Amino acid sequence: MTAKTCLPNVRLALLACLLLAAGCAGNGVQFDPDKPHHGDGRFNSPKQGSFFGHMMMRMREDPPPPRDPADIRSLIGEVDRELIESPASLPRVTWIGHATALVQYDGISYLTDPHLTDYPFYYEFWVEPRYTPPALSFEDMPAVDFVVISHNHYDSLDHRTVDKFGDSVTWYVPLGLRQWFLDRGISPGRVIELDWWDSHAFSDSVEITFVPAQHWSRRTAWDTNKSLWGGWAVRIGDFNSYFAGDTGYNDAYFKDIGARLGPFRLAMIPIGAYAPRYFMATAHVDPAQAVDIHVEVRAEQSLPIHWGTFQLTIEPIMEPARLLREEMARRGLALEQFEPVRIGDTLVLD
Ligand code: ZN
Repeated sequence: MTAKTCLPNVRLALLACLLLAAGCAGNGVQFDPDKPHHGDGRFNSPKQGSFFGHMMMRMREDPPPPRDPADIRSLIGEVDRELIESPASLPRVTWIGHATALVQYDGISYLTDPHLTDYPFYYEFWVEPRYTPPALSFEDMPAVDFVVISHNHYDSLDHRTVDKFGDSVTWYVPLGLRQWFLDRGISPGRVIELDWWDSHAFSDSVEITFVPAQHWSRRTAWDTNKSLWGGWAVRIGDFNSYFAGDTGYNDAYFKDIGARLGPFRLAMIPIGAYAPRYFMATAHVDPAQAVDIHVEVRAEQSLPIHWGTFQLTIEPIMEPARLLREEMARRGLALEQFEPVRIGDTLVLD
């Protein structure tokens, strides 16, 4: 073992100890044996990560290549503040970074998996900070009505960001996560917890449905798959949108979502954190599979997310964008339907 591989593995082993020490209280889920994704005290996932498996992968694989500062600069756009603070008579979406997007239409705004701080983990000294800043700070964020959370992994559910928003928004969370929000001091009336295919009316014109994704959950060593994961379909009047969350691919979920709730005027679909495939494929799509989702949910316009922000895996940071463009061209699809944008860019859907 080289010094290069030894240090991360020592850190991972210590990390396992910290997570074991963190513990976890019950979350009140009543598991339903008639639902295939409900198991015995946990939700069923095709595969969840393990520390041992992660350590083996890290020993086997080279670390990600060094990041080119020019690549990082190319990822960073500038928010059009005047635009995002103006009334949204047309639907629009602004990529804030990673899986965080601000969707605005007709007096309603929502955020997906808001992560506005530096680290994709609880213990800051343990992981690399983000290499691109969020396009908007909490202080600069326009008014937000509600937030949808895909699952409890640290890069999607950032407790520091949750604490900043607090009770100023309504939180839509997967089954099993409500108690976590209450434990952080969020008021019970501000947390809506849903199972797959459950819907909730935020208002007369806004319908929110939690939909399946292929993933898993864990925040401590004790809570693997005790809360659910998924995507969100959000209909605001005549504008139908879909946030895929964090997901691997299978040939059932996305066709089902498209058939039951599509077509979507806007989809937000992950394209990054996929290498190596033997390790990541069950939990994260690659760019070609992201195009499968775009097609199967029947999206008119998709926004690539979950890339260009945190170095979670070993692919070069610009590879997801390149492979996405190549895949759209290979299938003869118009690139503007699903094209990488810069952090801070806004797509206006007219
Ligand atoms: Zn995840």
